[in-house]
Amino acid sequence: MSKIKIAELFYSIQGEGRYMGVPSVFLRTFGCNFKCQGFGMPRGELSTEADNINPTKYNDYKMLPLVSTGCDSYASWDPRFKDLSPMLTTDAIVERIMEILPYGEWRDEHIVITGGEPLLGWQKQYPDLLSHPKMRGLKEITFETNGTMRLTKSFRDFLTAWKQPPLGMACDREITFSVSAKLPCSGEPWDDAIKPDVVCAYEEVGTVYLKFVISTEQDFSDAECAIAAYRKAGFKGHVYLMPVGGVESVYSLNNKNVALLAMKHGLRYSDRLQVPLFKNEWGT
Ligand code: SF4
Repeated sequence: MSKIKIAELFYSIQGEGRYMGVPSVFLRTFGCNFKCQGFGMPRGELSTEADNINPTKYNDYKMLPLVSTGCDSYASWDPRFKDLSPMLTTDAIVERIMEILPYGEWRDEHIVITGGEPLLGWQKQYPDLLSHPKMRGLKEITFETNGTMRLTKSFRDFLTAWKQPPLGMACDREITFSVSAKLPCSGEPWDDAIKPDVVCAYEEVGTVYLKFVISTEQDFSDAECAIAAYRKAGFKGHVYLMPVGGVESVYSLNNKNVALLAMKHGLRYSDRLQVPLFKNEWGT
């Protein structure tokens, strides 16, 4: 039986992108190919905020401090926090999902497979999870990805087949890739982070949209260059601008400006509802 290292598994409302407001199970896998230590920092500087958190003081995600710079889900990939993330069998994951769904079965909820980077290490294991008999009623999946990991052929084939609804399901199943492409403000090099051909290949499997985290005019100018590169490669999906801000004080400084910027350029605005609603605490 397959096992997946799970950083968090919780039930909440999707706060970002296409499914904003939809009740969702969040499956946060452990591991990422990036660190994104540049978020919230002056250009060229890297945050050490998470580095200064002592992992030995915490035995539960819910107790971990929030950070206002760097990656706001640092514990889902930083090896220093790996012991907070158990390796669970797909059966155990499904049992936990059934416990947290309000009716103990899939109704209108969707699943968000997030990270870390969920397409980094677990593509082989997801078919076991998604084929489990108790997952039969699931109709919609979102992968929240940084858009740098290619789908393996076998996982792509599996997802294509999964979209065919099982007997008795009235509507089609949907797969979405919410691609949060990392601009230079993340601290990650452009050539590592902007992979148009990888993202275009997701469009063969499901609906794909790009989501750029914006804090300054420079970020928007970088986003425009990235959008041009994705379009040149044939990307057809929507583009969202989303305000930076893992904590409320930072988020509320620029959410309206980013909304106005999105309007001005005919792009979509994504909020981060988890920040005003739940303070972006772990498990929300
Ligand atoms: S890609 Fe996402 S999870 Fe990975 S370090 Fe960057 S913000 Fe964090």
